[in-house]
Amino acid sequence: MHKKEVKTTCSYCGVGCGIIVKKDNNNKVLVEGDKDHPVNKGMLCSKGMNLHYVVNDTSDRILYPEMRWSRSHPRERVSWDDALERAASVFKSIIKKHGPDSVAFYVSGQSLTEEYYIANKLTKGFLGTNNIDTNSRLCMSSAVVGYKKTFGEDSVPVSYEDIELADCFLITGANPAWCHPILFRRIEQHKEKNPDVKIIVIDPRKTDTANFADLHLQLIPGTDVVLYNAIGRCLYKRGLIDEDFIKNHTEGFDAYKTQIFETSLKEASKICGISETDIRKAADIIGLSKGFISMWTMGLNQSAIGTDKNTALLNLSLITGQVGKPGSGPFSLTGQPNAMGGREVGGMANLLAVHKDLMNEEHRREVAQFWGVDKISPNPGLTATEMFDALESGKLKAIWIASTNPLVSLPNLNRVEKAMKNAKFVVVQDISHKADTVAFADLVLPAAGWLEKEGTMTNSERRISYLPKEINAPGEARPDVEIFCDFAQRMGFRGFNYNSTEEIYDEYCSMTKGTKIDVSFLNYDRLKSEGTFQWPVSEYRHAGTPRLFQDKKFYTPSQKAIFNVATSIHNTALQPNEDYPLVLTTGRVRDHWHTMTKTGKVSRLKTHYPTPVLEINPVDAYLSKIKDGDITEIKSENGVVRVRAKVTDSIVKGCVFLPMHWGKQLQSTLNRANNLTNTHIDPESKEPDFKYTRVSVSKYKKP
Ligand code: SF4
Repeated sequence: MHKKEVKTTCSYCGVGCGIIVKKDNNNKVLVEGDKDHPVNKGMLCSKGMNLHYVVNDTSDRILYPEMRWSRSHPRERVSWDDALERAASVFKSIIKKHGPDSVAFYVSGQSLTEEYYIANKLTKGFLGTNNIDTNSRLCMSSAVVGYKKTFGEDSVPVSYEDIELADCFLITGANPAWCHPILFRRIEQHKEKNPDVKIIVIDPRKTDTANFADLHLQLIPGTDVVLYNAIGRCLYKRGLIDEDFIKNHTEGFDAYKTQIFETSLKEASKICGISETDIRKAADIIGLSKGFISMWTMGLNQSAIGTDKNTALLNLSLITGQVGKPGSGPFSLTGQPNAMGGREVGGMANLLAVHKDLMNEEHRREVAQFWGVDKISPNPGLTATEMFDALESGKLKAIWIASTNPLVSLPNLNRVEKAMKNAKFVVVQDISHKADTVAFADLVLPAAGWLEKEGTMTNSERRISYLPKEINAPGEARPDVEIFCDFAQRMGFRGFNYNSTEEIYDEYCSMTKGTKIDVSFLNYDRLKSEGTFQWPVSEYRHAGTPRLFQDKKFYTPSQKAIFNVATSIHNTALQPNEDYPLVLTTGRVRDHWHTMTKTGKVSRLKTHYPTPVLEINPVDAYLSKIKDGDITEIKSENGVVRVRAKVTDSIVKGCVFLPMHWGKQLQSTLNRANNLTNTHIDPESKEPDFKYTRVSVSKYKKP
């Protein structure tokens, strides 16, 4: 490697591709795929290969702290001292008057592990509240609960290297061709070399992923559990189950069997809109395969029955005994680059670091002891949507938002706006003025971005990588850990005077000793010199763990995996009616990332899908008197969106699709898909349902 080259990891999605960063003669950053990286082997997708534009263009960056003394005054530039003294004084006074549960932190799956760890230590250990949650609540929390209920702990059993060993993929509620492109490229390459490999895609839309599939089951939205159970029923009836695995390594099969036989194949076919033949075909492909991998993302997780969808899918791996073997297992794909790292350090309101549970008294005591505090509060913390409900009701007074843009990404944005206006004090810590949330801040703190700070991240396959600091942050921007630690010390808390980010990582690693995610033998030196590692790394010479459960011993008390019976097989969100006859599902497009604060400033990423459009089936378009290209008005009980229609049979009848990336700063308030979505959440995972909002659609007529 040229001495000016440095290895790092892409900061976009959870695939976690390796990138080599170089600088040109003008000191501008250049990027290329790392050919030696086990994830991408030199490949990068459109977002990754254009990352240098994001770094080199600092025109949108927040350069110094800004503060306003009252809502009637504009924000003005202030020093870091003034900014953090004010933050500490407001937090102290609110906590003194209203108690610790009147403040909250809302962080991000894009935060580095050290940042996540410190924010959690600060909030749960020292501020005395569990009101810290993350935008990963909007993407992965249903998968977390699904894994815990099935395997006893939040543990993704497989690796990308299993892709090349599998002969059957069930990709459901995901469009990796657009959203995890390099991972999908590996599946494509594997199938190109091995035409017998079969791909089943379950999705209400004919996505690029579906177009590559051997079998596309274009289901009616919200009917996933019925479909997975119907496949399970067929597997059982056709004798394509692993009786030995079920008998020796699982619990709860009889109850599961009862549930899958409660709905006949004929009924399931009608409910899901999938022919009985295709359901049988899917079961045969799965049941006859030697290596079966299921992959999923938001289509399952972002649902009012997200936990049930997850466990119903996981049951298919159990009934076929396809866990803990090379080339088989369930594989939830994380959306964000460090959603997995956040889970490791307890980055959610209901979790504690090292996969401990907040509601477990013994776990609280252990973590409190480690941090040297008297106790961790037993009060459940507010989750993402609950925080904004609490701001609206006045229960929550102050919120600190770091590296996320809820004014585009949360459901029911009109309500979120009201909540933000109702907050007594809002801190926004971000890199870009283009984040809509900044407009609501009383205090804006400039954060350092990718390449401007060091730390670690964990990708979808539990692979930890070290990201070096290679360039200086613009203006007065500082790494998030520094900001959190500085604030903590001004609050008078001890235990935050670290000399380096490495010290924070070492503290976290020592906490993992003896746990299922043990990385106590890992440190920056090893990550820098030896590359990436998949946890656990339980001995000094240990090279990491690509695959879990090879011994068929799961993390439950009985060491058996659990078949879970779905609490509800039908989506519990409000059902379509005469006023709102269609179901809206939202999602992502190929070249944009989240709320576009980064991809929105790269010209070449704007050509693929320049503006949001409503995808509508020709039958629904005909009934609504809409033609291709018409401006449509989409209404729900929560708000309105106006965008052009794309009439296409790529979406199932009765369902419409809108991309979620656009916000006010980048286009208009009327382009925001989340004006429409509702705050209905899964009762266990507390993940909102972005995939099932009833709406009406009509041709827009200018008044
Ligand atoms: Fe980055 Fe994901 Fe693309 Fe890889 S697939 S280059 S991690 S955005």
